[in-house]
Amino acid sequence: MKEYSTDILIAGGGPGGIFTSKALMANKITDFKVVCDEPDVVCRCNIPYGIGKKFLNDINDAVTSHHTFLPNFDEVGIVGRIERIDHKNKTAYGKLLKEDDEFTVSYDKLILATGGQASLPPIKGAINPDYDGSNPVGEVFYYRGESYDKAALRDNVVVVRSVADARRIDKICGTGLTVAVIGTGLVGIEIIDNLIIRGNKVVVVEILPHLVSFLDADMASHLEEVLKKDGAEIHLGQPCTEVGDGYIVVGDKKINADLVVIGAGVTSDTRLAKEIGCEIGKTGGVKVDKNWRTSVPDVFAIGDLIEIKDAVFESPVQFQLLPNVMMQGALIAKQFKGVELEGPLAVGSGMSHAGGLFWGFAGYSEEMAKARGLGVMAEKIELFTAEHASPYARKAWYKMVVAAEDKGTVKKGQIIGFQAITEGKHLGDLMPRWADIIGQKETVWDLPKHNWIHQPLVGNPPSNAYILTFFNLFSGKLSE
Ligand SMILES: Cc1cc2nc3c(=O)[nH]c(=O)nc-3n(C[C@H](O)[C@H](O)[C@H](O)COP(=O)(O)OP(=O)(O)OC[C@H]3O[C@@H](n4cnc5c(N)ncnc54)[C@H](O)[C@@H]3O)c2cc1C
Repeated sequence: MKEYSTDILIAGGGPGGIFTSKALMANKITDFKVVCDEPDVVCRCNIPYGIGKKFLNDINDAVTSHHTFLPNFDEVGIVGRIERIDHKNKTAYGKLLKEDDEFTVSYDKLILATGGQASLPPIKGAINPDYDGSNPVGEVFYYRGESYDKAALRDNVVVVRSVADARRIDKICGTGLTVAVIGTGLVGIEIIDNLIIRGNKVVVVEILPHLVSFLDADMASHLEEVLKKDGAEIHLGQPCTEVGDGYIVVGDKKINADLVVIGAGVTSDTRLAKEIGCEIGKTGGVKVDKNWRTSVPDVFAIGDLIEIKDAVFESPVQFQLLPNVMMQGALIAKQFKGVELEGPLAVGSGMSHAGGLFWGFAGYSEEMAKARGLGVMAEKIELFTAEHASPYARKAWYKMVVAAEDKGTVKKGQIIGFQAITEGKHLGDLMPRWADIIGQKETVWDLPKHNWIHQPLVGNPPSNAYILTFFNLFSGKLSE
């Protein structure tokens, strides 16, 4: 039995745990331990590209050694899994993963960074009926309110969260088989695109009437068009209800599928948090205050594990995204140094690429806002991203969503959503700007206060024009 003692114990060595550790080091706080149950640091964002092998050579490119992030990992890191925490006595108990041994860590403050687990929707046959609990792989997925070891999944079913999941997909795909992808969020779409790149026939199943719930139908249709051109068979508006050997069932159709990849979201891994008695919010994430304190004294929580406050409705939400995790790590370390800073209000946002289109969203779509009972105005415009003569000019569609009424925390005229699709110009600069505009709760009347840069060849010449187009359209409506 290895026995450790530390001031700060970080449970979980995903991006949350590792970035917090880095930030502690930067603040010259060295009396901490981080317990990591994955062999390396996994940048999950790279996993789809490790499968596609076009932008990354291999899945190994999605992992970085602990020592690269934390050169002193041998001093501060424990490669193991925490199995139990006795918070009354401030002691964690676990198993080491590289040695056949157990460990205990006594601590003063605990940071829970246990992240999320892939969710499996209710699909008949997805769980192997013969699984008897033997040979667990030590990674879990979430199904009907419980965590299951991934060994319980049917042989041809994979969830997407870890490097091991990616390796299972990689081993099977690229051999001309048919792969069904269930769910078309950011991860689902990236997996679809990369499976197509690998030469698979891809069957897409989405329960909603269009791809990508964060986009409106009139924006998602562009993605649907390119994925269909790339050969994807798309089934919308119905769930996958059953999986069997070599097939899935969607509605009344039995569809051939050699492998079934589930991209149906993430559920916080609250097992340790619940054991300690941390309050869990309505979203299923751990409740924290603005300084990431849970309801239990001396216990903090960050990352995919927690719920955060949405910028638009100021209600608890879960936007399980890397920038949130990194910011929380930086600020919690500062707090341990005695400087309390608040993070931004959260904006659900993302951007990606599929079938030659770059696409992104920040905040709420028209459909999502209406579903929350908010009256909105929305405008979609078609434009070119540079002067037509420029070799960098690309066709694009931008859509802005604005509150049409005062309601709760939302003001009439407040910009609550922005979506963009371009035929080949990445959105890395544009989307964060809109995430900030929405996060700062700006209104249409704030748009003319922004500075923009125009340059015909490399710039974004219509940027002034498109901002003014939106300003004119919405300010006109608001003044009616
Ligand atoms: C395929 C994919 C693509 C993504 N792409 C993007 C993207 O492009 N942009 C973006 O912003 N976000 C993206 N994300 C989301 C991003 O990866 C997550 O927000 C981020 O990983 C969250 O970090 P975390 O540390 O909170 O949780 P996790 O990454 O889940 O890490 C938690 C860690 O804690 C470990 N753990 C759990 N319980 C214990 C225990 N008892 N003892 C020890 N360790 C434990 C887990 O095994 C894991 O290593 C993507 C996610 C996936 C799956």
